[in-house]
Amino acid sequence: MSGLIVLAMMSLFGPDEIENTNAVPERVYTKLAYAADTPATRPADRVSPLVFIDPGHGGKKNHGCRGYDGRFESEANLLLALAVRDELVKAGVEAMMTREDDSDVPLYERPRRAHELKADAFVSIHHNAPAAGKDPLAVRYRAVYSWNDLGQRLAEAIAARLAPCDSLHANFAVTRSPEIPSVLVEADFLTHPDGCREAFDPACRAQIARAIAQGILDWLAANR
Ligand SMILES: [Zn+2]
Repeated sequence: MSGLIVLAMMSLFGPDEIENTNAVPERVYTKLAYAADTPATRPADRVSPLVFIDPGHGGKKNHGCRGYDGRFESEANLLLALAVRDELVKAGVEAMMTREDDSDVPLYERPRRAHELKADAFVSIHHNAPAAGKDPLAVRYRAVYSWNDLGQRLAEAIAARLAPCDSLHANFAVTRSPEIPSVLVEADFLTHPDGCREAFDPACRAQIARAIAQGILDWLAANR
């Protein structure tokens, strides 16, 4: 496992978001109660693709990391996710959000909703922070995480548009769906002064949102 993955996994995810990355996929999938209970069926009347956008964290107790300027990751995630949603809608893609305000949506509820509606893709939006003890001024990179082959192609498409950006593997609750291509975007390091400034700058955010949306659109064009 690369140092980057370890760093990212240790940095901001609570125990619910991290599982044993050496677990065999079948065993991991059995934890997906939503997958076992409700086989997803695509509504016959849905014409346009459906993409779920998931702004990570949210609510009074789940802020994610604290940015360089004191603002929380949950806010940066929501702002970027809404911008991605708007870009997708402009392109004729149906986009649904797991939250549209500062509400606390349980972790497994997020992919479950996408599964229920048989979404074409699930994209979780986060901002990163370094592992405890690391100098936040020295760590800044962008990455898109996937867990299985389904998600990897989507991750690579988004990473290509976000370049320089790594496409990496991580076994997060929101990346391991066996049916819906699912990825987690770490758009920037909120703990880095430049990363934080850009995350809350509308023009910079719009640029990142367009890149993420374009990656999703590239993937949809090639895979659907
Ligand atoms: Zn996060």
